[in-house]
Amino acid sequence: MTLRVAIASEYDLYDGEIYRFLLEKILAQPVERWVGDYSFTGNRSVVKLAPAFLATAARVGIRHAVLAVDNDGGAKRRPEHDEGHAPAPFDIDDDVRCRECWLTASIPARWSTLGGMTCVVVPVQVVETWLLCVRGDEFPREPERAFDRRALKTRFFGKPMPPVSTRIEMAIELLSAPHAMGALRKRPSYLRFEKRAVAWKSAR
Ligand SMILES: [Zn+2]
Repeated sequence: MTLRVAIASEYDLYDGEIYRFLLEKILAQPVERWVGDYSFTGNRSVVKLAPAFLATAARVGIRHAVLAVDNDGGAKRRPEHDEGHAPAPFDIDDDVRCRECWLTASIPARWSTLGGMTCVVVPVQVVETWLLCVRGDEFPREPERAFDRRALKTRFFGKPMPPVSTRIEMAIELLSAPHAMGALRKRPSYLRFEKRAVAWKSAR
């Protein structure tokens, strides 16, 4: 059975497709990405539109949602999530604290009371970090400590940046490789995503 999932990400076509594909692998069932009439551009749009997006999703019978942004932090801001983080009230202008806590705080209580389940995803530092790790690229320190967004994207896609259709093909082809899931599971930010998605199965 196909599972319809409302996916809000920084760039629907590209990030959204990667998360949809990974969900299919994790859940072992077809997943259809739903965005309705919404269009997301950048991390602020994800949290800004989240309440209306989830309300519309609930109205059309969707009960599963993914909210995703890149961590895109540095050595001194946006630390990677830790289970010990205390929930803080939502502040859209917060640019220094953990992105997973920030996304989680943007989810309206109404969505949960309607039975909605949310999976928050924050690749550290960007989704290309995951792709580079699957490709087997070496990093001088932990991959999470390579902070330059543009450099990471160029490293994976080359220069000039290919069109988005090619970027999606490159990403999906790599993630389809037999070793991909094993390589992803070495990244703590991916493991948290997988754990939350797997929890959907037991909640059904
Ligand atoms: Zn956190």
